[in-house]
Amino acid sequence: MKIDPTRILLVEDDEEDYILLQKMLAKISNAQYELLWENSYASGLARMLESEHDLTMLDYRLGAQNGINLTKDARSYGYSRPIILLTGANEGEIDIQALQAGADDYIAKEQLQSALLHRIIRYAIQRKKAEHERENLLRQQIASKELEQRRNEFISMVVHELKTPLTSLKGYAQLLHRKFTLAGDEQVTRLATRMDMQINKLNGLISDFQDITRIEGGKLQFQEDYFSFDALVEEILEDLQLTTQQQKLFKEGETHATIWGDQGRIGQVITNLLTNAMKYAPETDRILVKISSDADNVMLCVQDFGPGIPKEQQTMIFDPFYRVEGTELRNAPGLGLGLYIAAEIIRRHEGALWVESEEGKGATFYFTLPLKRKNAASQQEDAAAKM
Ligand code: ADP
Repeated sequence: MKIDPTRILLVEDDEEDYILLQKMLAKISNAQYELLWENSYASGLARMLESEHDLTMLDYRLGAQNGINLTKDARSYGYSRPIILLTGANEGEIDIQALQAGADDYIAKEQLQSALLHRIIRYAIQRKKAEHERENLLRQQIASKELEQRRNEFISMVVHELKTPLTSLKGYAQLLHRKFTLAGDEQVTRLATRMDMQINKLNGLISDFQDITRIEGGKLQFQEDYFSFDALVEEILEDLQLTTQQQKLFKEGETHATIWGDQGRIGQVITNLLTNAMKYAPETDRILVKISSDADNVMLCVQDFGPGIPKEQQTMIFDPFYRVEGTELRNAPGLGLGLYIAAEIIRRHEGALWVESEEGKGATFYFTLPLKRKNAASQQEDAAAKM
């Protein structure tokens, strides 16, 4: 395989030094070098900026000018190849200046010999390459962060613009409902109820969007307090039972537990698991909710008797935007965000959420929440009491 030679530009006003360097490079057997030569500051700078080489070597002495100024000038014009400065005897002081001006290395001419030259050139090229790669990566990271931030800002704006008219719509639907109930018009009352339910669905979708941007932006915040786990479950079951006549929601067990956490968010998880069961097992007539506790955790499970979830997709359903492929249930409304958000809420409460399912035999979603989790203030009190 033919390897392209490494092209080195030498800016050096002494032709003898050029010839010497050429001889040294020719002696290097395990690499091929091509030496280009310019003998003045001005022609050197012009050639550097053409950038048709891999590295520049500059002599410190360049007539009335010097290699440090040339390095500075080239860098200020955006020259990005490695630069090695060649210094004469008694010019020891300039090494640091050279590096500060933007040179990558320096070498005293009297130390020059083939092996050292080869090593310095190779290292300078490789170091520069790595530096460019790092810079590129950083640039990409900054660009993708900015893009993500803009996207999140855009979604926040869309969510706000959608929520405002929906809030008014919900108010009107409730007003209609009241008016027609009073007037005894059952048919329109039913329509107003449906309207309200559809608005709730839309609100739910929009809130999911809002949550996912909050999760991704690290801004999902919790308002934590102590709450009764059993009362929360009971309340949600009562509310959801009102929305379906076909499926009966059965509750088993009690925990009598008081949990430290965000009641609204834990309620959101329970509601999501139950509405999924209702949505994905529409032909069935019962859904079981079991709650229990042991010394460390409370556990809740929601069991349905619908189509279940194929084994290979059981972990993926917790990914954002993932919906199970190839079933007629794909028509059920949803964006594939609910379980992702639920898992994040439970994870942040130091619990666990998982599913067990056999295709055709329904699905059971479980979550646990720790009993001993406390608010930061009472943890500090405990710590103080122990001291
Ligand atoms: P979606 O808004 O689509 O319901 P989720 O994140 O809540 O989003 O659920 C992800 C996917 O997991 C659903 O699209 C569905 O395919 C599947 N899934 C969730 N719950 C059940 C269930 N009880 N039975 C069958 N499939 C389910």
